[in-house]
Amino acid sequence: MQISCGSCRRALNRVDHPDGYQYWVHAFGQEEDGTHEPRPILAEPHYRCDICNDEPVTSLFFVSGAVRITAISSSDDPWALCSVCTDLIANNDWRALLDHVTTRFRNLGAHLFPHSVADIQRIHKQLRRLAVGPPVPLTTGPGSQTPGFEQEPPTPGFPSGPA
Ligand SMILES: [Zn+2]
Ligand SMILES: [Zn+2]
Repeated sequence: MQISCGSCRRALNRVDHPDGYQYWVHAFGQEEDGTHEPRPILAEPHYRCDICNDEPVTSLFFVSGAVRITAISSSDDPWALCSVCTDLIANNDWRALLDHVTTRFRNLGAHLFPHSVADIQRIHKQLRRLAVGPPVPLTTGPGSQTPGFEQEPPTPGFPSGPA
């Protein structure tokens, strides 16, 4: 996903920290680099939840490594989450997350074959394994959403529980 600066509206560059966490900076050499701290916001406020397609997005979920989504695509971007998916992942309730996603997709008219459900579950298992920490909430400011990166990054090592 594209993250831009809420102060100057320029696109920000992603930095991958060795602990798997990520943050965003102004491009080196840009005049904005010296005048203010980057204030990361979603460049597009109408992003949908990467897990269930609901909106609005209320948190970002960081992963250390690439999540394979299909046979030919993968992503190491943070995942955008709606409030329901945020709560379920924060509570480490991956079974309820799968129920939430499949129920929602069926309500939207999708016909889910057993292998489709298995594909969704396979993605969830990767997310769980690669999680850097619990979802990081987006704090809502006037007309914008700002990831709460002024706080300390979450401790690496998301607690694992029963599948
Ligand atoms: Zn800026
Ligand atoms: Zn969701």
